Amino acid sequence: MTAEMTGIGVSPGAAYAPVARLAPVPAPPADTGPEPDPAAALARAKTALEAVAADLDDRAEAASGTTADILDAQSMMPRDPALADQIEKALAGGRSTPHAVIEAYGFFRSALEAAGGYLAERAADLDDLRDRTIAVLLGRPMPGLPDPGHPFVLVAKDLAPADTAALDPAKVVAIVTEQGGPTSHTAILAKSMGLPAVVACPAAAALADGTEVLVDGGTGLIVPDPEPGRVRRVLDAEARRNAALEASRGPGRTADGYAVQLLVNLGSQADLAAAAAVDSEGVGLFRTEFLFLDRETAPTVDEQVEAYGQVFAAFSGRKVVVRTLDAGADKPLAFVDHGDEPNPALGVRGIRLARTDAGSSLLDDQLTAIAAAAAKHSAEVWVMAPMVATPGEAAAFADRCRARGLPTAGTMIEVPAAALRASRVLDGCDFASLGTNDLGQYTLAADRMNGALAELLDPWQPALLDLVSLAAEAGREAEKPVGVCGEAASDPLLACVLVGLGVTSLSMAPGAVAAVRAELSTRTLADCAGMAARALHSDDAAEARRAVAAY
Ligand code: PEP
Ligand code: MG
Repeated sequence: MTAEMTGIGVSPGAAYAPVARLAPVPAPPADTGPEPDPAAALARAKTALEAVAADLDDRAEAASGTTADILDAQSMMPRDPALADQIEKALAGGRSTPHAVIEAYGFFRSALEAAGGYLAERAADLDDLRDRTIAVLLGRPMPGLPDPGHPFVLVAKDLAPADTAALDPAKVVAIVTEQGGPTSHTAILAKSMGLPAVVACPAAAALADGTEVLVDGGTGLIVPDPEPGRVRRVLDAEARRNAALEASRGPGRTADGYAVQLLVNLGSQADLAAAAAVDSEGVGLFRTEFLFLDRETAPTVDEQVEAYGQVFAAFSGRKVVVRTLDAGADKPLAFVDHGDEPNPALGVRGIRLARTDAGSSLLDDQLTAIAAAAAKHSAEVWVMAPMVATPGEAAAFADRCRARGLPTAGTMIEVPAAALRASRVLDGCDFASLGTNDLGQYTLAADRMNGALAELLDPWQPALLDLVSLAAEAGREAEKPVGVCGEAASDPLLACVLVGLGVTSLSMAPGAVAAVRAELSTRTLADCAGMAARALHSDDAAEARRAVAAY
């Protein structure tokens, strides 16, 4: 029997089901040179291609809408006779079957890349089809999401955004990954889908397909083959938790009535309806990047007015904090020359882009569009800038907003310098919002994309909480709101700690609001302060979590 294991719980809730693993991409064997019977090898390759296409047909039939259309279109690629012709050529050139397949797919990949634009974006699809074909040839499971035909706990080394986006919450009851961190895609997506999730659990490598596991996405505990009594107790508690969540309504309050605004983070037009339907006081972080990324040219002011207007209409009468474009680093823009940066996370990203002429006019256009859209709707529109480091940057941004008729302008605090000098930063603007994802990465000097550093990126890190405390204290003195809009706010216990540190609002994945509201309603403000003190007195994230959980 496999022993209990722990990782980092990143999305609360409990689930019990058999494991189904994400099949890894098969490593092809070394090229063994010419096939003794090239005709038979070609026939084998064609059979594998047909199996891949047929699998896509089956998936398309089970899917609907855009997903079905995409899968249908994909199934035509392995059936393209030109692909078989290339494989035949590669076999004739002395390649072994798997390497002939790789070479043939590579040929078409290069052609798509050379064509540029939309076709170039499809090049990565060929890699997936290639991996599937190799898996069939080698008699391995197809890489990608499993479909065992019953609800399952998805276990993977790590999940690519494409895998997580394709998850069906009716089938996947929880996610466990060996790698990844609290701010990884997996964590953000699991939370937005309300799926229990545990990341950074290397021991999960030992979990075999079919093993029954109990997963607690709050504590990060995974119990293989648990006692039936334990399963019952945990699932009963989960049912009570869900009932309490269903019953939780209205603005955020501590048990003694201290008001804390609960807001949602919004990152795409597709999430708008679901986010607006959540019982929240508005949007605390509207990530506007989605309008700009994946585009060859900047959106026009009119296009932007339309897009922002849709959000303001959906949140009519509520607050919407719009964050101006956070481009650069992991979010480069095709139409902006970001230059050659050896370390883009420390480079010209966020508000720093406005130092360039092109970035400055992008920002002006964006502010113009936000102001025009705000004028047509009744949402209470606030604007804030990402990656502000100095009081001067904060004040210059606020002046720029006010000059365009946007009266409430603020600063994201996600650079340690801005947290350390928060009172001066707040002198020049109206509010601040702590981006704990980036503030964590810069405070602990740990790249937020690097799963190997997950424990340093844990938002429970006391050094990060020290900076939150400094900024919140500055807000209290200046009598200006200081909220949190990073992933930290969506962890119910940590949310109470943040309130204890003095933050005035919490903005989170829409799926997390009910759990945070329910937890907050059980603690007084003094409890929250006590929890915060325990967290600050800890030496690392794990100790802080334990100390607060035991409070
Ligand atoms: C953050 O850094 O915490 C944040 C909210 O911004 P993003 O995750 O979009 O960088
Ligand atoms: Mg950020």
